[in-house]
Amino acid sequence: MNILNPKKYTSLMADEGSRTVVDKTIAFFEGMGKKRLLEDFDSKAWYQGFTDFLAKEQILAKLLTPKEHSGGDPDCRWDTARNGEYAEILGFYGLGYWYYFQCTLLGLGPVWMSKNENAKKKAAQVLKEGSPFAFGLSERAHGADIYATETTLTPKGDGTYLANGEKYYIGNGNKAKMVSVHGKVKDGTDDFVFFVANYLHKAYELKGNVISHQEYVADFALHDYPITEEDILLRGREAWDAILNTVNIGKFNIGPGSIGLCEHYFYDAIAHAANRVLYGIHVTDMPHARRNFMDAWLRLIGMKLYQRRATDYFRAANADDRRYILYNATSKMKVTVQGEQVIELLWEVIAAKGFEKDTFFTVAETEVKGPAKLEGTVHVNVMLIRKFMKSYFFNPTEYPPIAPDFETKDDLFLFNQGVAHGLGSIRFHDYRPAFEANKHLPNVAAFISQVETFKDMLEKAAPDVGQDFDSSFALPLGEMFSIVVYGQLILEQAMLYKLDPDVLNQIFDFMVRDFARFALQVYDNPSVREDQIAFLKEIILTKPVPDDNQYERVWDKHIFPLVGAYEMNP
Ligand SMILES: Cc1cc2nc3c(=O)[nH]c(=O)nc-3n(C[C@H](O)[C@H](O)[C@H](O)COP(=O)(O)OP(=O)(O)OC[C@H]3O[C@@H](n4cnc5c(N)ncnc54)[C@H](O)[C@@H]3O)c2cc1C
Repeated sequence: MNILNPKKYTSLMADEGSRTVVDKTIAFFEGMGKKRLLEDFDSKAWYQGFTDFLAKEQILAKLLTPKEHSGGDPDCRWDTARNGEYAEILGFYGLGYWYYFQCTLLGLGPVWMSKNENAKKKAAQVLKEGSPFAFGLSERAHGADIYATETTLTPKGDGTYLANGEKYYIGNGNKAKMVSVHGKVKDGTDDFVFFVANYLHKAYELKGNVISHQEYVADFALHDYPITEEDILLRGREAWDAILNTVNIGKFNIGPGSIGLCEHYFYDAIAHAANRVLYGIHVTDMPHARRNFMDAWLRLIGMKLYQRRATDYFRAANADDRRYILYNATSKMKVTVQGEQVIELLWEVIAAKGFEKDTFFTVAETEVKGPAKLEGTVHVNVMLIRKFMKSYFFNPTEYPPIAPDFETKDDLFLFNQGVAHGLGSIRFHDYRPAFEANKHLPNVAAFISQVETFKDMLEKAAPDVGQDFDSSFALPLGEMFSIVVYGQLILEQAMLYKLDPDVLNQIFDFMVRDFARFALQVYDNPSVREDQIAFLKEIILTKPVPDDNQYERVWDKHIFPLVGAYEMNP
């Protein structure tokens, strides 16, 4: 297993239609070339060429239309595995391209969840035209607090409504013919509602781009925008659930964007460092530089293994198996932040080169911090996954095994996820077998001992009510939990993939260090208790087990061969 190389890439999808989509997309970017890609990034040019390409090849229609609405195109389906793969490829060429796709995917959430057949037909047509979609949830003043939404839909008394309000941070809001807008009905109920608006309507005021990037993150206002029943997607409880369920779909697609971005950066960084000779030695031969490359590459492989395995759980989800909600939040908060670390490690080595304007480095450095903040910050996701900690550790249950899933089917459960509450009742399969099966690897064994100590602490020196409510204590504790979940799925995927055990053991080198780092944050918290300190010290003092030969083997076999293995067409 290694990082994505567009020039030697074969799609994970078995069907010809999907392979064509992937091949044509790579050819589009390589045909555009690096110079043009960077010029467009620097000049913040809108993605007209990309839009035209997507329309010509019907790519949005194929990737984001469930079969039922496909109009006969056999390549249409909503397939989480395929969308993740596509997101990674777009991220490889820049998060702006990924974001265009991402906002379209999000905007379609409330549409495919609704019972409004006319809106669905219209969406299928707009997808065929290649127009992007948008998801209009956020407002300037309210951030994560969606209860406080101020956008309104006021009945006129003749069965129609007028929409008023301002939405802020809305990707593609400058070009979307269907913007799924969230608001409240002002008919005395204050019901939540999703309705569709079109950027071309004269009552839709595009106020501008909130950010200074190629992406268009719109501030727009609706002034007495006329809405009929035909434009209403969801109302009441269903509209509320659609917010969370759409974010569930969207946020799983964020990690792949980060992965792609890091992969491209990695090729360029290692090529630069390997060819740079200082004091008579290549930078890649300096032990600290090599360590950064090792750590970055291992983290990147970890991100890919986790995301791939989580995708199987996503596709297998149903009303009785909602494990995907934990794996999704873990993807969102870990894969994206691991991506930030990857770029940080590599940038430290390439140093000044990372500032040069005619490189992909500046693109990635500018964009890599975004994904962790979209669709719920890291904090919001850590607080979410904490709800699962008890069930995960202390109340496992059995499920039928979940095999890798590349079937050419729609993941329709995602549009029928049901009520968004009841998270406390979700149960998980026992995490221990995945670890036990790999305990012969010394770093996995070290990690197991840390996790056992952590679990002991939760049982014998559990956080008290004050600590539970203090997010400065609860967040690093939640981070520790997330690393266990992350490790479990990495191991599951490594076994399915028959990953080189050298690589797996080296991955758990950084896992042990990360676990200790968050334990130190809990230890440092002013409210930590004496009985908790004893457990935390044990975790902090657990070290990865060094193996110099193995370290060199991984470098020689997997990492150094990446020098010159990919360079974008000029
Ligand atoms: C580039 C970009 C593109 C975006 N695109 C879209 C889009 O297309 N459509 C759309 O609707 N929105 C979009 N957003 C908005 C995005 O979803 C919000 O940024 C996000 O929901 C967080 O809101 P906020 O950044 O205002 O932070 P706030 O909600 O103001 O949070 C402030 C701080 O409080 C913390 N916090 C808040 N709530 C909790 C909690 N429950 N538990 C613990 N900590 C908490 C946060 O972590 C943060 O540190 C976009 C944002 C950006 C930056």
